[in-house]
Amino acid sequence: MKKEPFVSFEQLKEIVKEYPTPFHLYDEKGIRENAKAVKEAFAWNPGFREYFAVKATPNPFILNILKEYDCGCDCASLTELMLADSQGFDGAHIMFSSNDTPAEEFVFADQIGAIINLDDFTHIEFLENAIGRIPETISCRYNPGGVFQMSNGIMDNPGDAKYGFTTEQLFEGFRLLKEKGAKYFGIHAFLASNTVTNEYYPKLARQLFELAVRLQRETGCHIKFINLSGGVGVAYTPEQEPNDIRAIGEGVRRAYEEVLEPAGMGDIAIYTEMGRFMLAPYGCLVTTAIHEKHTHKEYIGVDACAVNLMRPAMYGAYHHITVMGKDNNVCDHKYDVTGSLCENNDKFAVDRMLPKIDMGDLLVIHDAGAHGFSMGYNYNGKLKSAEVLLREDGSTRLIRRAETPKDYFATFDCFDILKDMKNL
Ligand SMILES: *Cc1c(COP(=O)(O)O)cnc(C)c1O
Repeated sequence: MKKEPFVSFEQLKEIVKEYPTPFHLYDEKGIRENAKAVKEAFAWNPGFREYFAVKATPNPFILNILKEYDCGCDCASLTELMLADSQGFDGAHIMFSSNDTPAEEFVFADQIGAIINLDDFTHIEFLENAIGRIPETISCRYNPGGVFQMSNGIMDNPGDAKYGFTTEQLFEGFRLLKEKGAKYFGIHAFLASNTVTNEYYPKLARQLFELAVRLQRETGCHIKFINLSGGVGVAYTPEQEPNDIRAIGEGVRRAYEEVLEPAGMGDIAIYTEMGRFMLAPYGCLVTTAIHEKHTHKEYIGVDACAVNLMRPAMYGAYHHITVMGKDNNVCDHKYDVTGSLCENNDKFAVDRMLPKIDMGDLLVIHDAGAHGFSMGYNYNGKLKSAEVLLREDGSTRLIRRAETPKDYFATFDCFDILKDMKNL
């Protein structure tokens, strides 16, 4: 399927007059339509809630849009909890799915009433020591080990993942938590990442539902929710077929009706913690071609680099690129599209066939709305870009300013060592 930017060339030419490149641009219309589709796909389950994985796009303006669709926040750190709390999400709308958790983060999560999802059997005692009791509502993360395989050959490797309780530990953990006063239980699992198939959630759900039936029977614990977590993917390449959230919701419903309802457990709420599926396609990185270099290969240097979008450098991930205004030109040039870091993996594309690029051309790097800006870092003293929201009426709003050198040096402000620095 042809991948089109959500912003037109004409619109973008106006936008860059106001905001210098590089910046991340988000599509409010797309975010809203998708959030609504997610809610509708699971509307058959009265307790359903999507807890947006804040790490994907930790921006308060984005969280507030999702909040209108009753989304909660899935947090994994103190600052993510602070962000969710500050935007008025109450405890029932905050899931604390962390791992290797510091005691003070459990304390804060408990103070704001967040639902705590434990990553390990030993965290039961750790949590009890940290907050002085076990909360009435508690969740445990499950890891069955082995491999998780789907019929299209896609698989992931939970057996290699650091997360979660083993099956035996989960049964033991539920018993122990009940003994210590827990009343309402949740089961959480994240067994495959970026799955571009409608089969993942239904298959995971069936496995967790069967486990829930056994757990409730054998431990007597009242299971209140099952959290399918994240892992629903997006079509980064034009060849991939995007997931159909309606089909995914229906697949989960079938498993629910076949496993939970006959067991008398038809009151369980389904939770999700999607990040990528909620935001990735609705954000892009806008950058300008500033150099061309003809050596052993053909290079286009842009004004963004891996600190603005790390996935290509870190995972070799494919991100589609549109050269704005040249969408109908033939892709007869083979380029490496590079950033400026002193790291040879700082390339947004390698050997990519694109239309001829001229200096000053605007490039849109697609599907950067999740795990894009948020994975940014400051290597080589590079500064993080702005985030801009493209609103439904076509106007724009700055939703995070770009970093300045002053931000970069701010952590020396308690010393006087930089007092003679110019231009700050
Ligand atoms: C990263 C993460 C998510 C979101 O994953 P996506 O692939 O973005 O959907 C959800 N839950 C937990 C615990 C995570 O670590």
